[in-house]
Amino acid sequence: MPRPAFEIGGDRVAAGSRATVAVPVSILSDHTPVTMSAHVVHGRAPGPTLFVSAGIHGDEVIGIEVIRRLLKAPGLKRLRGTLIAVPIVNTFGFINRSRYLPDRRDLNRSFPGSEGGSLAARLAHIFLTEVVARADLGIDLHSAAIHRTNYPQIRISAEAPRARDLAETFGAPIIVQSQIRGGSLRDAAQAMGTDVLLYEAGEGLRFDEYSVRTGLVGILRVLRSLDMIPTRGVARRRTASQFCRSSKWLRAPSGGLFRAFRPDGAPVAEGDVLGTVADPFGEVEHPIAAPFDGIVVGRAVMPVVNEGDSVFHLGRIDSVRRAGEALDGHSTEIADDPMFDEDEII
Ligand SMILES: [Zn+2]
Repeated sequence: MPRPAFEIGGDRVAAGSRATVAVPVSILSDHTPVTMSAHVVHGRAPGPTLFVSAGIHGDEVIGIEVIRRLLKAPGLKRLRGTLIAVPIVNTFGFINRSRYLPDRRDLNRSFPGSEGGSLAARLAHIFLTEVVARADLGIDLHSAAIHRTNYPQIRISAEAPRARDLAETFGAPIIVQSQIRGGSLRDAAQAMGTDVLLYEAGEGLRFDEYSVRTGLVGILRVLRSLDMIPTRGVARRRTASQFCRSSKWLRAPSGGLFRAFRPDGAPVAEGDVLGTVADPFGEVEHPIAAPFDGIVVGRAVMPVVNEGDSVFHLGRIDSVRRAGEALDGHSTEIADDPMFDEDEII
């Protein structure tokens, strides 16, 4: 007996086929219908259902590019189970090149949402009922907030042990343990029993190849570990992720011009000066030193700062030397990955 069709947004995708489905969201003020487009790959053989989402924050475009490449991956031809890929959850924000919905609400603080709430609440509700409720597991792709960048990392909470294993499988250079924010997709999905891996990489409105490749390879590794795609063509992870059990934002000690001496992804020792904030006359310079051994997991890219602005996000680590070796190992692995030589999914 053939596998039943996959139903989403009022459409049906037959087993052994793939299709882009438009899930109705709302009508714009000028009567233009708005939809959330999802690409469904419904394998002939049974298996888990995984969703991959990006663009919950409309200006975070790296995840959108990751999904664009993922959908070209040859392994999907023989997918077991079902992949639901939603490259742009927040169409409104994407079109406006903005993180937010038109009413300035943040979609990732609006979950679980409701049918009759604000536009953000309605969109959150649609995504939860149409996508998350149909999946066993999700991977949600993000980048840093405006004028900041993140080194590629998976964020997990201490309360989700399965997510830790999956994070190790994904193999981003860094895993940062962080509390789940109330109202986030991760929060609402966990309440429904669906683990969600949160991938954070790069800047909003910018591409960077390392972030895109790390995200793509990570998703393929998770698909392979769930036996959803064949092993061939997916690079094995050779270097373990650096685990940061906590992290801290270092803030600008005064307003002025911020210069970073250490890039994101740099391992640093307690006391190292990571950057300075100076006044425009160069009379006073305030150094910013690392309060503990860590990795710069994110930082500000905007040189104009006010006192108290977050400038370095430091993840706590045990060994600076080991972290340095591991992070070098990761970037070499991604650079040398034969998958990217073939130009097949670039
Ligand atoms: Zn985001």
